[in-house]
Amino acid sequence: MTDELPFPESLCHRCIHVRIVRSGRGSGFVMCQEPTLPKYGPQPVRICRGFTPKPA
Ligand code: SF4
Repeated sequence: MTDELPFPESLCHRCIHVRIVRSGRGSGFVMCQEPTLPKYGPQPVRICRGFTPKPA
């Protein structure tokens, strides 16, 4: 079990659309909930048209 963020450098972690999905074994997956983008696109994301910053 690990609490480490998958792809910690990914832009997604600063975006309101991200959800981190944990498997039973503790692996983490970056899931995008922006409806027009793939749920599990290539990581790490560095630039994204759907990026919406989380409030500070
Ligand atoms: S909208 Fe873009 S930056 Fe935001 S979670 Fe989805 S893929 Fe990541």
